[in-house]
Amino acid sequence: MLMTKPVFRFAPSPNGHLHPGHAYSALLNRKFADDHDGRLLLRIEDIDRERCTPALERDLLDDLAWIGFEWDGTFRRQSEHFADYSAALGRLVELDLVYPAFMSRSELRQRVGTGDWPKDPDGAPLYPHDEREISRRERQERTTAGMPFAWRLNMDKAVAHIGAALAWDEFGPEGVRQVAAKPEAWGDVVVARRDTPTSYHLAVVVDDALQGITHVVRGRDLFFATAVHRVLQQILGLPAPVYHHHELILDASGEKLSKSRRDTSLRSLRQAGKTPDDIRRMVNL
Ligand code: GLU
Repeated sequence: MLMTKPVFRFAPSPNGHLHPGHAYSALLNRKFADDHDGRLLLRIEDIDRERCTPALERDLLDDLAWIGFEWDGTFRRQSEHFADYSAALGRLVELDLVYPAFMSRSELRQRVGTGDWPKDPDGAPLYPHDEREISRRERQERTTAGMPFAWRLNMDKAVAHIGAALAWDEFGPEGVRQVAAKPEAWGDVVVARRDTPTSYHLAVVVDDALQGITHVVRGRDLFFATAVHRVLQQILGLPAPVYHHHELILDASGEKLSKSRRDTSLRSLRQAGKTPDDIRRMVNL
């Protein structure tokens, strides 16, 4: 029998400098891939053309080399594959599961007010449903007038289109367990923007499928987002990998590390005299 080898991926975004949490994710992927006799691919998630810069990508590759992270083959840079995401978006448009959403941030703030408007798992207010039924003509008029918009998935329609409960396989030291997906908790998520034919959610499912990823190992902060990924995979007829959402590395005061904090970046730790071995010890790998 022909057994296909497991394929893992590490998928950082060059929108800031990597911190020890990224080192942990990268090295854990390497360890899992080696333990499973699998391959590990690198994917540069740079669809945000404003925040992701060539200089940050250079620094990212340099930081990965410094900690001794090795991947297999050449890497995939998302900004070079917009046509793939466009095709997937086209399919969602064809199925009438997405709509152009025109509310600006401030309009949205006003609309949802300060009360107990429902929030998504990341704490952002759910997008109101007002624009789901805007007529084709009105949409046309607004878009031709140059009104900015984002493509949002009509989550209720998407869930009804699938017509069955979704789950994913979460693997860990105790084996594999099934997690029930609750995509409704996210409401009408953004799947593309006017000038970028994708969002993180759409690009990640398209690429995981195109790259033949069988095992997704990433931080727990993306645990609930997997429900959105399962919905998109199901609609687009893409295979579902198995998932492992690892713990996050916290700083001395118990806070999650973030790219916006310079003092905890791998670069500044390196400048302060830390060695790659220190980083490995720090993340227990
Ligand atoms: N690009 C994402 C990040 O840097 C990770 C996406 C993923 O692993 O699915 O947070």
